[in-house]
Amino acid sequence: MPWIPLTPIEKMAETDYDVLIVGSGAGGGAALWRLIEQSKNKGMRIGMIEAGDLLLPTHAHNLPTFDQTRFTQFIDSPHYAEQIGNLWPDYPGARIFRALGGRTLHWYLMCPRLLPEEIKSWPISYQELVPYYLTAEQIMNVTDAYAKGSALQEKLLHRLRFGGFPDATDLPMAVDLDVTRYGQLHSNVFFSSIIFMAYALNMKPFDLAVNTRAVQVLTEKGRAAGVKVVTSDGKTSTIRAKTVILSASTFETPRILLNSHIPGEAIGRYLVNQPTVIAAAKINRNQFPEVLGNAAIMVPSAADRKYMFFTLGTDPLDYWWYHYKERKLLDELRLGFFGLATLEPRFENHVSLDPIRRDSFGVPLLKVQFSYSSQDKTVIRELTASIRRAAAAMGLDFYENPSLLPPGLDNHEAGTCRMGNDPATSATNQYGQIHGVPGLYAADNSVLLLTGAANPTLTTVALAIRTADYILSQYHE
Ligand SMILES: Cc1cc2nc3c(=O)[nH]c(=O)nc-3n(C[C@H](O)[C@H](O)[C@H](O)COP(=O)(O)OP(=O)(O)OC[C@H]3O[C@@H](n4cnc5c(N)ncnc54)[C@H](O)[C@@H]3O)c2cc1C
Repeated sequence: MPWIPLTPIEKMAETDYDVLIVGSGAGGGAALWRLIEQSKNKGMRIGMIEAGDLLLPTHAHNLPTFDQTRFTQFIDSPHYAEQIGNLWPDYPGARIFRALGGRTLHWYLMCPRLLPEEIKSWPISYQELVPYYLTAEQIMNVTDAYAKGSALQEKLLHRLRFGGFPDATDLPMAVDLDVTRYGQLHSNVFFSSIIFMAYALNMKPFDLAVNTRAVQVLTEKGRAAGVKVVTSDGKTSTIRAKTVILSASTFETPRILLNSHIPGEAIGRYLVNQPTVIAAAKINRNQFPEVLGNAAIMVPSAADRKYMFFTLGTDPLDYWWYHYKERKLLDELRLGFFGLATLEPRFENHVSLDPIRRDSFGVPLLKVQFSYSSQDKTVIRELTASIRRAAAAMGLDFYENPSLLPPGLDNHEAGTCRMGNDPATSATNQYGQIHGVPGLYAADNSVLLLTGAANPTLTTVALAIRTADYILSQYHE
């Protein structure tokens, strides 16, 4: 018996689903949870298929046997993470990760919102988004209390705020900081999509198959009718569903749509990511009191600042893991910088199907065409200069100077099925429904118009919840 109930694919192939979700990462998990939460007393049949295997039952950081080295060795298995940058020279940092829970099994949990002015071009107003942000923050336990109040955090924040960054603040993160008490367990500190599935399971059963990959969406009379899948042993089946939600990621969702010949000029277009500048710096320990704590600081984007950055530490690589190691008393403290810039969404940055090469399932490989515009390069330069100013304000010395990561290593791709009112420039409407195909939705980073610098996942989850609510509003028993 696995740690989460699974349904044989033969049984799923005999069921007519009301909703079938493809992919179990941030978007798929959020849609599943919301659909089940809001329909628990209805007879809705909900299924989920996931291309990957059962890798971890929780976020990796909740497992005390991991540290950064052991985790990297574990996750680098080609079974879970496919290094595809060598196929995509424009996008050398790219990786595809397949497992139940998707990339939320090892994301860094940073959860800022986009600002109202950053979503002005969206088909949804900020006011409409607020209740969904609040719901997402509540279910994901988003808090800014992770390092709040520590001596290190307070001193560095003070220096930043009076050194040219008055809006520097505590970083919001998806961490459950409630203590375990009176028999109520709070041991699952770091959030992953597995928590969405746990909430859902405890309200109502749903069908789940892993190692099952969607290769095509099926339509009948112009509307969604199901999905063709291939299991890891190479067997093909058809799963019927009135509503299909594609949550297979910014790369895989358009790949399935293109492979299904779903029309749409914007499908696969407007690929954006968040160019990431990292740096590492140190500061003398004797500037701080004996009881030190950690730092998790955010300098948010602003009307005149198309980037944001974070300062994390001490010892950024070990910082996220259980602290069972005996540590030396150091003379210097090490902190990491992690900066994200906003890209200009451009039609020419896109993914498309390779006309010749196919994977072992017979699905055309994806090609990526990507470059930075001169406006993007200006924002990246401003971000780099700003990180330098912030380090100086905090009294930090770089031991690794600010440098831009290769595109793809940010893991924040978005936009390939972006929302909008005009089918010529967007793939889905404001509810995530593919233009012109009733019953077919996208709910993952692909729908995001990443027109701000905030990390994408909180917004993706908020939008997936909104998509689920819309689907429920259209459902009649
Ligand atoms: C190291 C790291 C750190 C990160 N830190 C942050 C952070 O601090 N803050 C933040 O906001 N974001 C962060 N991210 C990004 C975050 O993980 C993504 O934004 C989020 O997971 C995207 O959700 P998604 O649903 O689009 O895709 P995923 O979470 O990638 O889920 C897609 C799922 O679909 C499955 N799938 C793919 N193809 C198919 C198919 N054909 N059929 C069936 N299933 C399929 C995959 O196996 C996967 O489970 C980080 C990512 C990484 C890797």
